[in-house]
Amino acid sequence: MASPVPSRVPRPGYFPPNFNPNYQNNPNSLSDSMQNLQINHLPGPPPAMPNTSGPRPPPFVTPPFQSSVPPHISPASFPGVAPVSRPGPPPADIARVGAPPPGPQPVNLVSNLASGRSSGPPFSLSAPFGSRPPPPGVYPSAPMMTGPIAPSPNVQGLMSNGPPTFAQGSFPGGPRSSPIGSTQRPPAGPPPVGSFPRDPQASSVHPFLGSPPAGPPLGPFSTSSQGMPPTSAPLYGSQPWQMQPQQGSPLAPGTMPPPRTFGMTPGLPNQPMPPVPPGMGHPSVSGAPVAGSKIDPNQIPRPIPSSPVTIFDTRQNNQANNPPPATSEYIVRDTGNCSPRYMRCTINQIPCSGDLLTTSGMLLALMVQPLAVPHPSEEPIQVVDFGEGGPVRCSRCKGYINPFMKFIDQGKRFICNLCGFINETPCDYYCNTAPDGRRRDADERPELCRGTVEFVATKEYMVRDPMPAVFFFLIDVSMNAIQTGATAAACSAINQAIIDLPEGPRTMVGIATFDSAIHFYNLKRALQQPLMFIVPDVQDVYTPLQTDIIVQLAECRQHLEQLLESIPTMFQNNRVTESAFGAAIKAAYLAMKSTGGKLLVFQSVLPSVGIGSLSAREAEGRTNVSAGEKETNKLLQPADKTLKTMAIEFAECQVCVDIFVTTQSYIDIASMSVVPTTTGGQLYYYHPFSALSDSAKLYNDLRWNIARPQGFEAVMRVRCSQGLQVQEYSGNFCKRIPTDIDLPGIDCDKTIMVTFKHDDKFQDGSECAFQCALLYTTVYGQRRIRIQTLSLPCTTVLSNLFRTADLDTQFTGFLKQAANEIPTSPLVQVRDEITNLCINILHTYRKFCATVSSSGQLILPEALKLLPLYTLALAKSVGLRTDGRVDDRSYWVSHVASLSTPLAVPLVYPRMMAIHNLASKEADGSLLPPIIPLSSENVTDDGIFLLENGEDCLIYVGNTVNPDILMQLFGISLVEEIPSQFLLQQFDNELSKKVNDVVNEIRRQRSSYLRLQLCRKGDTSGSLFFSYLVEDKTANALSYVEFLVHVHRQIQTKMA
Ligand SMILES: [Zn+2]
Repeated sequence: MASPVPSRVPRPGYFPPNFNPNYQNNPNSLSDSMQNLQINHLPGPPPAMPNTSGPRPPPFVTPPFQSSVPPHISPASFPGVAPVSRPGPPPADIARVGAPPPGPQPVNLVSNLASGRSSGPPFSLSAPFGSRPPPPGVYPSAPMMTGPIAPSPNVQGLMSNGPPTFAQGSFPGGPRSSPIGSTQRPPAGPPPVGSFPRDPQASSVHPFLGSPPAGPPLGPFSTSSQGMPPTSAPLYGSQPWQMQPQQGSPLAPGTMPPPRTFGMTPGLPNQPMPPVPPGMGHPSVSGAPVAGSKIDPNQIPRPIPSSPVTIFDTRQNNQANNPPPATSEYIVRDTGNCSPRYMRCTINQIPCSGDLLTTSGMLLALMVQPLAVPHPSEEPIQVVDFGEGGPVRCSRCKGYINPFMKFIDQGKRFICNLCGFINETPCDYYCNTAPDGRRRDADERPELCRGTVEFVATKEYMVRDPMPAVFFFLIDVSMNAIQTGATAAACSAINQAIIDLPEGPRTMVGIATFDSAIHFYNLKRALQQPLMFIVPDVQDVYTPLQTDIIVQLAECRQHLEQLLESIPTMFQNNRVTESAFGAAIKAAYLAMKSTGGKLLVFQSVLPSVGIGSLSAREAEGRTNVSAGEKETNKLLQPADKTLKTMAIEFAECQVCVDIFVTTQSYIDIASMSVVPTTTGGQLYYYHPFSALSDSAKLYNDLRWNIARPQGFEAVMRVRCSQGLQVQEYSGNFCKRIPTDIDLPGIDCDKTIMVTFKHDDKFQDGSECAFQCALLYTTVYGQRRIRIQTLSLPCTTVLSNLFRTADLDTQFTGFLKQAANEIPTSPLVQVRDEITNLCINILHTYRKFCATVSSSGQLILPEALKLLPLYTLALAKSVGLRTDGRVDDRSYWVSHVASLSTPLAVPLVYPRMMAIHNLASKEADGSLLPPIIPLSSENVTDDGIFLLENGEDCLIYVGNTVNPDILMQLFGISLVEEIPSQFLLQQFDNELSKKVNDVVNEIRRQRSSYLRLQLCRKGDTSGSLFFSYLVEDKTANALSYVEFLVHVHRQIQTKMA
């Protein structure tokens, strides 16, 4: 499997090829520019190299969109399209004992339907079709993907699908690494390859005042069938672009935020806490009353409304800056540390010892989102090509060259900032140092001045040629899926989304449908129409053909479109209720095995037959009430190991699985979600599925899934300075060796949490570095190594930890830890644990850092003042509520596993805003109205309120809303007449337009289409809405004010 690292050859005076993959792939594509990868411009003549005998030229190459074609790209490296030959499954003509049809039988689609399926009356599919997404014109026409793409590599040379084993302890050595016979891993997957969907109408929809030169941000979400204008790019905030360059780094180290008092009116005769305790150097206090006292709910800590976009320099004056809140909008300037979008730490100073960390009660972890989408105004990531030798690395720990490696002896040697080893500078990388100790060429070399760079991977990082971009669609056509319109919605979504797949010979597609059997389709162009092959054996599955099940998109687009249009009709009389989910994914995997790729499954019912079948154990659990919590926990764990074992096998062959669950009932998400979680994929959940209101979301989710920046066959490792070691990785991946994680798929949304523990002490004042290396293949077939480096100061001072704590990241860590525990621990225990975490942190602060003596006051560290609120919200979240459905909780757990920091907070602490009075409000430049605290006191009967958590968007309509307003927004004047599964339409009036703008803006910010649901007072939908108002007291849980009092009492008890 693994190929030995070639023995080191002396590096010739090799001039790195002017290799510009972006250009090569698609010179004009917007997607490529969105990819934000850019080869360096050569800033004038190369820096003088003292060593004439073979200086390594600087790694700068052509700017991305230069007009000349890179000369060095020889056809040899991208041999013409080679039909992929697939090993594997028994050929069609091998008789399989016991299988009714011996081997796959080509069947004409039409005749197959007629003969094989029962012939009941056709079901009306009118509903799903009626709700289909808008006509083509409304959708963004996906101009992005249209450029030429590198031809697919010759796949015949593939060594094996299995990812090669990696050298223990490191990626295969770069040139400088010792030529150990280490084994290598496959190249790391692709980054966000330019498949960024562009929304042509975006700019007209969201007029960004003073928009940045980059133009309107691109967004994944196009218009819906709901008559909404297309939304524009995701992720970037609601604020008009008001650049405030002079704002600089808002949170420079040492700078204290302005003193704040959270005036809880003290119930005691005592005064409110002084804003800044003397001698503390920072305002970290808020006074809260003891129990029984009155607290002014308007004065307790709440999230501060988002500020205009800020500019953030990652380092200044040789010091790391504390990043802005993850949920705010900011533009990063990489001045040595990587952007917090890619990697952010729970604390921005590292405790020198493990004891200090333990005392603080805080979590030391990184949230790593290696392919996060940058802000459109940020500089592109520089791609550095070191030529044949590959990037410079530490010969001991294999850490990659970065701005914090210290050059000594006039540049002849350098000290690794990760392991401390003194390395000889390779002679072709030599440059002398300036009096300040920096290399004279540091500013011209991205790897010496940027926290994020991307290296072109050499052959040493590959065990086979980069894999093609394979997308395989697997659609449930069982009776239930057909009747609910789920099949039609899936087919329609795929049909529209394939427009956004990368063009060119590297992009390959396949499709299969399944009920109690699996149906493959030969999409070869030569055929008049697709042929169907049935695989009836769902216990011992195989794929019917060696080739032609997965073909180049360019070759089969028409066939595929026709097929997708006809599938709902072909199966409209299907009476088969069984679903062979496990067998179907296994069969699809067998077809994809030799290349790897993405498997997208649309599943509507509980998998009931074949391998990996499941039972409706939720019902069993309910009947067994006496068993209590233990039974519930079992339901949150996979039913057995079958699917997990399969998923590991998939991951080894670089198959990444996403599942779109469109269901009306229990489907055992706890068992099914293991497959995406293990393969770097994702589970989407539409329950109860409504063809009317969910089709648009399904399409948008699918579109973003395949078009977002992403990579394949990736391997990731995080290294850190001596003194710390990685404790654990947490997220969606497969782990086969302790140090690395395998990511068959990795995309811009996926986040991996990495926790650390001390194995030594740091010197006060030294820095601790973290480096994440992601080796991956882009969708255009380039092997890249994306390196993120973050260097933070170490401290022995406890209050520094509190001062530099990162609330959003800290909380995201708690959230993920809670989610990890839910399946195995009683809910009440998990709730207690998170509450205790919060109390312990605040107690430590109170005890060691606050100088205020009055025990009558709750004192909160400024940086963590919202921790109690978020902790309370987490305890009341879907994952930790006792009244939730099992599948809802399992989905929540699987969703949280890969959730990014910016989306973690809103998931438990949503945003609420009033929308009934938008028309009368003066525009203040922001598209979104003010955020309202999550308390039912703020929800009036005559108002309409929108609440969103990044996933769902609930619109609550009070029972005395002015009928005129109802008419303007919904076209109906009676609340009772508005259906709960509704389409938000845009009517010809100011209010309706503004509400649509608000919804689209939120979709853009969240990179999520949001599931809209209407809620009314007095019914279950109303209860659902109020369940999100986490500041309220409920039957089982405290109000926010009560919770603060509780926390305060606990702290007092500990202090006593
Ligand atoms: Zn090292």
